[in-house]
Amino acid sequence: MNVTPPDKIDLLGLSQDQMTSILVDLGEKPYRTAQVMKWLHHRSVTAIDEMTDISKKLRAEFKLNAEIHEPEMISEQVSADGTRKWLLRARSGSAIETVFIPEGTRGTLCVSSQVGCVLDCKFCSTGKQGFNSNLTAGEIVGQLRVAERQLAGVYSARKRAVTNIVLMGMGEPLLNIEQVIPAVSIMMDDLGYGISKRKVTISTAGVVPGIQRLKETTDASLAISLHAPNDALRDQLVPINRKYPIAQLLSACRDYAENLGEKRTVTIEYTLLDGVNDQAFHAEELAALLADFPCKINLIPFNPFPGSGFRRPNAANVRYFQEYLVNKGFSAMVRTTRGDDIDAACGQLAGQVADRTQRSARYRKIAAEGGLI
Ligand code: SAH
Repeated sequence: MNVTPPDKIDLLGLSQDQMTSILVDLGEKPYRTAQVMKWLHHRSVTAIDEMTDISKKLRAEFKLNAEIHEPEMISEQVSADGTRKWLLRARSGSAIETVFIPEGTRGTLCVSSQVGCVLDCKFCSTGKQGFNSNLTAGEIVGQLRVAERQLAGVYSARKRAVTNIVLMGMGEPLLNIEQVIPAVSIMMDDLGYGISKRKVTISTAGVVPGIQRLKETTDASLAISLHAPNDALRDQLVPINRKYPIAQLLSACRDYAENLGEKRTVTIEYTLLDGVNDQAFHAEELAALLADFPCKINLIPFNPFPGSGFRRPNAANVRYFQEYLVNKGFSAMVRTTRGDDIDAACGQLAGQVADRTQRSARYRKIAAEGGLI
């Protein structure tokens, strides 16, 4: 299927700066930005004519050249533990997944950035789907807008349902960075969703030039998917490591965190795979690797999916791994598996990626030519 780029401007994907520049070009006063963005993100309007306090002239202009395009909801599944998963239609026709995970007062929304993924991390089900297309900034923000609307009836109006966002759904955010940057900016903007920069986390398998670019453009939190304490093993599990080995990756992360200041640190994600990277000597090697690297460590027991070829680690190994790190002075948490009865756990998001092989090959070629992978 061919994806035609949207010929109209998608209002949902415009950051405050982009919105202002468009409005000023149209001869409007800069304060219009606040009006329009509040209609879009606070009041969740679906049609341009619903923005009743902006001029007829501007609405007519918008109707000609712009649109409010929210990904359409195909289905909603609710897990026994309260986790929700939505299947949403992307512009390309494929479907993506977005997951909401409630935990006490916190509500984390796990957002997708691409339809499929080119990176082929060996234990990730999205990777097995191949790649179809990038999401637009509006489609990335749109996932939050849909979630807030769906949750409005479930949570009281006073209490915010979504308090945290992680770009840990389908896709590699830093291979779609030009769309991810405005999307994240809207999520953190008070005229958008007003979520604290500490609570919006971009997760990457390790696209080093992307981390460098992020440093110039955002102050969101950063997580990296490490999964191995040495290059030999990481080369196998996360193939992009062959291009950007661990030392380069950690150095880019250190730069990013230093730029943020305020004692903010990078999160290390480590998926524990039975017999592969979950042994005592791996924990020792990881502790040595990260000895001078300020970070929080999230241990994720592998979530199996059909044909993965990996097994869930045994509970004793997970406990030992965590305790070892904690005894070495690290902050190390085990992420409990949520929503696995609806296949909503980490690495189980598959969506419905149409026509993937041909596009994968083409996109890999583009990313490789651009020097990214
Ligand atoms: N591409 C980004 C974001 C998506 S994956 C990244 O790699 O960071 C989000 C996290 O889930 C990553 O740390 C990923 O490695 C992990 N993950 C993927 N598949 C998994 C699985 N089957 N079980 C547990 N964690 C998994």
